[in-house]
Amino acid sequence: MKMIDSHSHLFLEEFLVDLPQVIERARIAGISHILMPNIDSTTIESMLATCDMYKGYCFPMIGLHPTSVGERYEQELNVVIENLNMHSSFIAIGEIGIDLYWDKTYLEQQLVVFERQVQLALEYHLPIVIHCREAFDYIYNVLSKYKNSALTGVFHSFMGTIEEAELIMELGNFMFGINGVITFKKSFLPDTLKTIPLERIILETDSPYLAPVPHRGKRNESAFLKDVLAKVAEVYQLCPEIVAAQTSENVIRMFGIR
Ligand SMILES: [Zn+2]
Repeated sequence: MKMIDSHSHLFLEEFLVDLPQVIERARIAGISHILMPNIDSTTIESMLATCDMYKGYCFPMIGLHPTSVGERYEQELNVVIENLNMHSSFIAIGEIGIDLYWDKTYLEQQLVVFERQVQLALEYHLPIVIHCREAFDYIYNVLSKYKNSALTGVFHSFMGTIEEAELIMELGNFMFGINGVITFKKSFLPDTLKTIPLERIILETDSPYLAPVPHRGKRNESAFLKDVLAKVAEVYQLCPEIVAAQTSENVIRMFGIR
């Protein structure tokens, strides 16, 4: 059985000591591809080095994460653009978005940075990977403006309501990234998930964060995707093989990877 981890930060320092073992465990667990969203200018080098080391297995994205948006956001955006012009290996603009959970100080700047990166995605014909935390209306308002454009993307770590899922589906070409949150006891996500067709679902770990049950609270890694898969299969009442195949096909279709 093959499945794709569509969102994993294995290039962060949490994996500095044992990355080869982490990758080996991912391969054994049946992970066929690992997609890597960037954070900011400080993470590009290690991300590209990791993707270089595991070519054809790890795939880089480029983008400025909303929690890294501050006073220096214009310089940070320039780094994104420079990298887009320098490398052709990026499979998406990510991760980008709005995060009002940690800090609301830079909301205005976050909005500017998000929309600028949406435009970059259109310019470079790449999908976007969206980080949305307590900011659905802001994100939705920006995306609504591009409803009839070629924009595609993923709501990564989706944990919204049925109403939000409906609005996203009406936007057009957007997928829902589902991770370990689906396995958490108090999650209402299974109810929302049942209203979304499997053709719109992709799986992710968001390593090193959000480890699924039974690893909750520990460092997450791509091999734990099988616990997310098991829960998603249970929600849809399908066998894991079908869910693994369909979600992998969805990732390949959206990101154009082989
Ligand atoms: Zn992430």
